[in-house]
Amino acid sequence: MTKLIFEKSIKGMNGITLTDEELNTDFLPQEFLRKESPELPEVSELEAMRHFKELSDKNFCVESGFYPLGSCTMKYNPKVNEYLASLEGFTSLHPLQNDEDAQGALELMYKLQEALKKVTGMDAITLQGSAGAHGELCGMMIVKHYFKVNNQPQRTKVIIPDSAHGTNPASAGMCGFDIVKVDSNKKGQVDVDHLKKLYEEHKDEIAAIMMTNPNTLGLFEENISEISKIAHANGSLLYYDGANFNAIMGITTPKQMGFDIVHLNLHKTFSTPHGGGGPGSGPVGVVESLKEFLPVPVIDFDGEKYIRKYNLKNTIGKIKEFQGNFGVLVKAYAYILMKGDKLKQASQDAVLNANYLKEKLKEYYELPYDYTCMHEFVLSGDKQKANGVHTLEIAKRLMDYKFHPPTVYFPLIVSEAMMIEPTETENKARLDEFIDVMKNIAEEVKNTPQNVLSAPHCTPVKRVDETNAARHLDLRYKKDSM
Ligand SMILES: *Cc1c(COP(=O)(O)O)cnc(C)c1O
Repeated sequence: MTKLIFEKSIKGMNGITLTDEELNTDFLPQEFLRKESPELPEVSELEAMRHFKELSDKNFCVESGFYPLGSCTMKYNPKVNEYLASLEGFTSLHPLQNDEDAQGALELMYKLQEALKKVTGMDAITLQGSAGAHGELCGMMIVKHYFKVNNQPQRTKVIIPDSAHGTNPASAGMCGFDIVKVDSNKKGQVDVDHLKKLYEEHKDEIAAIMMTNPNTLGLFEENISEISKIAHANGSLLYYDGANFNAIMGITTPKQMGFDIVHLNLHKTFSTPHGGGGPGSGPVGVVESLKEFLPVPVIDFDGEKYIRKYNLKNTIGKIKEFQGNFGVLVKAYAYILMKGDKLKQASQDAVLNANYLKEKLKEYYELPYDYTCMHEFVLSGDKQKANGVHTLEIAKRLMDYKFHPPTVYFPLIVSEAMMIEPTETENKARLDEFIDVMKNIAEEVKNTPQNVLSAPHCTPVKRVDETNAARHLDLRYKKDSM
């Protein structure tokens, strides 16, 4: 059991040496000085260092093990990208510097925009969004403004599939749209008949349909061309949630599928470690007819130099200070340059890895949508539930085997869901190890369910009271309550 640093405290122990001069507080007004010394832990420098090393060793990350968290693309992000993003020319540049003095940074952003145009097929890109959800909000603001400018303010509804990521309805809702849910069919794809009905019912009140393709079940929407025709015939727009672009980059584009607006998560597909709350980046791409609606400034090239362009006729304004999370843009650009024409290979490997796992694991766990998948797939723990063991417990048991659990209980349309995304950066040996562990757990569920029900056994904290922790979070250390 890890001790708190206060519990490692030994009275009189000291890790620092301050001179009398450094300890001198005469220059501070008396009323601001403490009357009593603060209660700080008393440890030596070495013990303090050991303490924090011990804590850091408890972190789980892609660098320490397999992290198949579906819909999150926890791939390995090359460390050289961190080095490049930390180059002084990038980190010391002030965002208010004149265009003339920031040509390198502007060139990088312009070229990244060009690369993202190519990979999405879109005609213009903004790099301002600071996360996927922020990109969605930006996209929805464009939709709203587009219909305002085009005198169709009655378009107040956005259609979203029942398998969608929760941020989709949240972003559309935050933008003031009403959400209309379209069902999935037996194949886990948008039910086109239901969609047609919704379009008949709501007609010119529909502003857009937001889709994810491949969808959150990891399945490619086969009817995307038909869906695009239905949406456009009605006069509505087609929005693409490209947070997980790992399956299609270099293979096809949202433009080819008929989409008008796209957001990408640079921190998933294009290399930035994520999960700790940022920083991220959610660029938004649009087709020609929506170009003038992008937030300003957009980065442009006037034939001689790179510039920040502010005069867009119908701009939605600004959605983020300066140019977005610049460091993430540097990493994404470095990643794209490094991959070159091998971006396609990365997609192919991601899809191959997911299908390999899916085929091996469906022997032990239910696979409710048994089709060729893209970068991820979703298992159901229903078979194990029949033995009294829930997906949550399987997830906890995986931690004992030093594997990060998959995404669980999402998408909502699969009961006891386990959403698995291996990514392209894992090799076959590691995937085989994961298959063995999942097989072991399935056997434990049958033979020694208690082992799984009481998991995790090997983590510093066992089962936390998640509801209580979420509702009454208390991280204060109370000296005498220990
Ligand atoms: C991760 C994700 C998002 C949200 O991205 P954030 O950067 O977390 O805001 C949206 N849609 C899908 C499908 C995602 O996987």
